[in-house]
Amino acid sequence: MENQATSSCCDAQPAPQVLTPDQARERILTLVSAPDAYQQVPLKAALQRVLYTDICAPIQVPSYDNSAMDGYALHSQDLPVDNPVCLPVVGTAWAGKPFTGSLARGQCIRIMTGAKIPTGADTVIMQEQVERDGDSIRLSGTHSAGQNLRYAGEDIAQGETVLHAGHWLQPADLGLLASLGVAEVRVFRHLRVALLSTGDELRSPGEALSEGAIYDSNRYSLYALLQQLGVEILDLGIIHDQPLAIRQALQIAAAQADAVISSGGVSVGDADFVQQILSELGQIAFWKVAMKPGHPLAFGTLGGAKFFGLPGNPVSAMVTFAQFVRPALQRMMGCQPPAPVRLQAVCSEALRKRPGRVEFQRGIVAHEQGVLSVRLAGAQGSHLLTSMSKANCFIVLPQQSEGVAVGERVEIELF
Ligand code: AMP
Ligand code: MG
Repeated sequence: MENQATSSCCDAQPAPQVLTPDQARERILTLVSAPDAYQQVPLKAALQRVLYTDICAPIQVPSYDNSAMDGYALHSQDLPVDNPVCLPVVGTAWAGKPFTGSLARGQCIRIMTGAKIPTGADTVIMQEQVERDGDSIRLSGTHSAGQNLRYAGEDIAQGETVLHAGHWLQPADLGLLASLGVAEVRVFRHLRVALLSTGDELRSPGEALSEGAIYDSNRYSLYALLQQLGVEILDLGIIHDQPLAIRQALQIAAAQADAVISSGGVSVGDADFVQQILSELGQIAFWKVAMKPGHPLAFGTLGGAKFFGLPGNPVSAMVTFAQFVRPALQRMMGCQPPAPVRLQAVCSEALRKRPGRVEFQRGIVAHEQGVLSVRLAGAQGSHLLTSMSKANCFIVLPQQSEGVAVGERVEIELF
């Protein structure tokens, strides 16, 4: 093997800085930003894209007063007071086919849900509360003026800012924009993220396993996490633990992507070797983050791209993605990373922990007899991916915690 840096206690590699998870996240966030470039995309292609501009409502919604019920529209002054009233039915209003005339006092029309309220009417009576008799209705009982109407502009006023620049578009937003007649939106250009795994032992699913080999799981879990963010993914596959291969892969990745994510090769055993190439090619800092699982972590600039070197252990790779990479990529996509949803839950089993590091234990939270109750999702080794697969939350134990007793409250972070 060429050029392999040897590591020993006497080597002059600087000791990695030790940061808390919050410090590491804050530092990363101050060093990333969104590209100042946008694209115009049709609404259906806008899911998980980030708005480049504010959206102001070109029309009000609803755009006209309309009926919330199938029934009869009339004027409130014709509502019964003491005795039942009889009103002739002079027409019908359908959704999409309004009643064109205007309603005189003492008349009513048949009206369907969503149909425009005609001039002269201000109240709708549900059809179940009316006796229909040929061409007229008989109405008794107590009714309130203005009932069963949906008013123009009740949801959105014309000119109102409905969504702000930096908003990460979700399904309801696409419906909202469609309701305003918006057919295309201006969004930040797609973020391109290159993904690679390092390790001589790695094989792709579908290949045979030779002795000492394992399947590359990180590229699949990380790929899926990236898919959930809606970024464009460049899968660069598995890179062998060879300086030339790593150098080439990183150069290709940095030339084509806004962010490069690798897993493996940043731990002490072969880290010196990867560190050497990274420090030749870019400005990368190696951090020890006081967290479990998950340290060390490499972060920096590689050509025009940001580089995230995640630990190889499968749980560590996912935890560090969730804590550092996801918020950083969200900012690079143009949005403000949403704060993680952290809740209090009662721990239904004892948790072991040594003080010194923040721990992200994998938990299963459920609602039991009115309280949130959390337990571990199996054994907690950073190589045991089943714990992530079964879990629906992280149990976040602070640095100084010395463990948790049954019944104690803990903080959880929902997936
Ligand atoms: P490393 O950080 O390269 O020293 O790897 C730490 C541990 O994670 C080793 O047991 C590796 O075999 C394992 N590992 C590294 N990369 C992957 C991967 N892509 N998929 C599954 N396990 C991995
Ligand atoms: Mg390795």
